[in-house]
Amino acid sequence: MKAARVHEPGKIVIEEVPVPLLGDKEVLIKVHRAGICGTDVGVMHGYVPAKFPLTVGHEFSGTIAKLGSPSLGGLREGEPVAASAGWGCGNCELCQSGMGSFCKNRVSLGRNSDGCMAEYVKVDYRVVFPLPPDVSLDEAQNFLNIACAIQGFKKVPLQLGKRVAIFGAGNMGLIMLQILKLTGAYEAVAVDAIDFRLEMAKKFGADHVVNVMRDNPAKTILGWYPDGADVVVEATGNPLSIQNACDVIKANGALISIGIFSRKVKELDLSFLYYKEPVIYGSKGAEGGYQEAIQLLGKRRLQIKPMITHRFPLDETAKGFKTLEDQADKALRVVIEPCA
Ligand SMILES: [Zn+2]
Ligand SMILES: [Zn+2]
Repeated sequence: MKAARVHEPGKIVIEEVPVPLLGDKEVLIKVHRAGICGTDVGVMHGYVPAKFPLTVGHEFSGTIAKLGSPSLGGLREGEPVAASAGWGCGNCELCQSGMGSFCKNRVSLGRNSDGCMAEYVKVDYRVVFPLPPDVSLDEAQNFLNIACAIQGFKKVPLQLGKRVAIFGAGNMGLIMLQILKLTGAYEAVAVDAIDFRLEMAKKFGADHVVNVMRDNPAKTILGWYPDGADVVVEATGNPLSIQNACDVIKANGALISIGIFSRKVKELDLSFLYYKEPVIYGSKGAEGGYQEAIQLLGKRRLQIKPMITHRFPLDETAKGFKTLEDQADKALRVVIEPCA
């Protein structure tokens, strides 16, 4: 089968590799859609740790090609599915207490195990989820990010009547925005450096937007909400964003950090911890949000398809990465289609 592989940082090559052999708890999935995530870009460049040589990619939808053993979790060959990108051993103390995201022996697609930018990928049956009727493979490719956003969202109380500020209107930020509006956020502000993304944020329910290239986000947001935002979401992973995010938290408010900071924050004024008594949450992975993500997809409560701006065949995976990185062509969700 064909696969998009990285042998050394900075370069993706398309190679012929064997179709993965299955253990009896594993499922072979024919990959139809694979979304490129910022983490994949980091893996490719070598600033997100990964084990090379490696097939990249971890967010995908597809159909079940083969089961490692009969009647595995009620799954059926040929059925359309979404899947998570990682799973714990299932036996250690962390796994047993529902914290498989932190398992020392965790398998992570596109990090320490071959990922989904290939014709086929194998995953543990525990993280394979059949799609409800009428959910398209286009929508399901974003399953994992929906589950991640839900996992982050669950850290804070319901948002009915609350004001929220979301830093980063990329794929993850826009899903989070939709979830917060859905659950009753009274007003939402989206912050980004790219107008096209902010326009999309408005379509998805943002009441205000701030382009950091033109306006100071903290000053602007505090102009609208003098007391600050009840919930602030940091979805950029950019060290320059965090001070602004902290500066707009309301007293007793909350910050949820769902971006990965791959560089250090050089300077941060922490006096707000005393003055505002906020709660700061980190959020890793999606394990707490799988079921709700499938439900939201099934009930058509999120707009996922309009976020897809580009599609490439597997052979052009490198071009897909470049399109997302360069942002030259209004790229938001770039999707690779290994099997159409
Ligand atoms: Zn990802
Ligand atoms: Zn474990």
